[in-house]
Amino acid sequence: MPPAPDHPPDKAQPHALLVDGAQASRHQALIDTTSRLMAAMYVYVALWLVITLVTGLHRSHPLLVWGTTTWLVLIAVIRAAVAIKLKALLAYRPVLAHGLTVTPVLANGLTWGLLTASSIYRPDLEPIRASMLLVGVGLSSGGTVAMAINPTLKLWFPLSVISPVAIATATHATDNNILLACLMAVYVIYVMQAANTVSKDYWRAQEAFSALERASLTDTLTQVANRLHFDRQYELEWRRACRLRTHLAVMIIDLDHFKRINDAHGHPAGDVVLQQTARAMRLAILRPCDLLARYGGEEFIALLPDISDEGAHVVAERVRTEVERLTVTLPSGDIKVTCSLGYACVVPEHTADADEFIRHADEALYQAKTSGRNRSQRWQPTQRPPVPPRPAVKDNMAS
Ligand code: GH3
Ligand code: MG
Ligand code: MG
Repeated sequence: MPPAPDHPPDKAQPHALLVDGAQASRHQALIDTTSRLMAAMYVYVALWLVITLVTGLHRSHPLLVWGTTTWLVLIAVIRAAVAIKLKALLAYRPVLAHGLTVTPVLANGLTWGLLTASSIYRPDLEPIRASMLLVGVGLSSGGTVAMAINPTLKLWFPLSVISPVAIATATHATDNNILLACLMAVYVIYVMQAANTVSKDYWRAQEAFSALERASLTDTLTQVANRLHFDRQYELEWRRACRLRTHLAVMIIDLDHFKRINDAHGHPAGDVVLQQTARAMRLAILRPCDLLARYGGEEFIALLPDISDEGAHVVAERVRTEVERLTVTLPSGDIKVTCSLGYACVVPEHTADADEFIRHADEALYQAKTSGRNRSQRWQPTQRPPVPPRPAVKDNMAS
């Protein structure tokens, strides 16, 4: 009976670091949005105090002035706290991080919009009307362009400021208000267009950066991860396995007698064989957290986190048989290929040498080659050359 597959089939995902890369660019956009808006956190409080204190509104409407001030200070404090903790929040609760970033900004916009609308509606607030409108226009235009890289804020921030004012002017139709409503409509369209341009430029630059990063981590011939990608992922998984006390397996896969294929069919045919074998290996390495990389020449390496000894054996045999089953059909004829695999599986310690673990897999591969090829071999601690006994040290102190 074959060993129980402790490595259940799952969606193939050989580019774990690149998937993280796409998420990282979304996170980076939120960090960038927050840093662009740092100054705006306190501006609402400052402008509200200037407008109300200069116009004397704090004497006629103390509750409105100080109540609103407290509310605006509270929002500013929440925004500052979220900005300070944003990176940690994004690492553990990305959805919450997004919500806590976006909501206070919209609360600021809506507060200003409602206050401006009240100043249009209520004659007793007439002294602050012009200033509120002027500031509303400034905040929504500057803010919208600064926030344009965030798809939620790009649309909802200008709407939060402008909609209450638009409703107030439309339901309170005087000649002046109709003029105001028309000006605002033109202005909203203009701000939205400017925000769209900023957003497009930002995301185009992000895409170009991601494409460059993807290219720098991918092997051009086989389209699997390259060695740089493996090294980065290996370091992460090694540390994770040390911390969580879970198993980690590394498997080195070398094509058998590959030189003969090059010699018989030519180098370009060898390249096609390499491409098709890499594809076959990917079919055999199934978990999203697994990584298959080209390690150099006709040698590949697989990183298998959180896997038992038996699981690593199952994967090794699956890779071996998948390659063995492959037939590469070329004009020069059908080509069959086999591979040998060496693997090591441990629960790593922080004090252990991560490079030595790879050397163990390499030693096992050597064993697989010398014992006949087309086989997989697990590294056994006894495989190491015996350590020579230390020479006895005379205890001079005792004599
Ligand atoms: P074995 O591993 O079974 O001992 O034999 P082998 O013939 O595979 O041994 P070796 O590692 O010495 O040879 C590897 C060959 O792979 C040599 C090199 O020409 C070929 N090779 C390395 N990189 C490429 C490549 O990108 N394309 C092609 N076509 N061949 C490559
Ligand atoms: Mg070889
Ligand atoms: Mg080789």
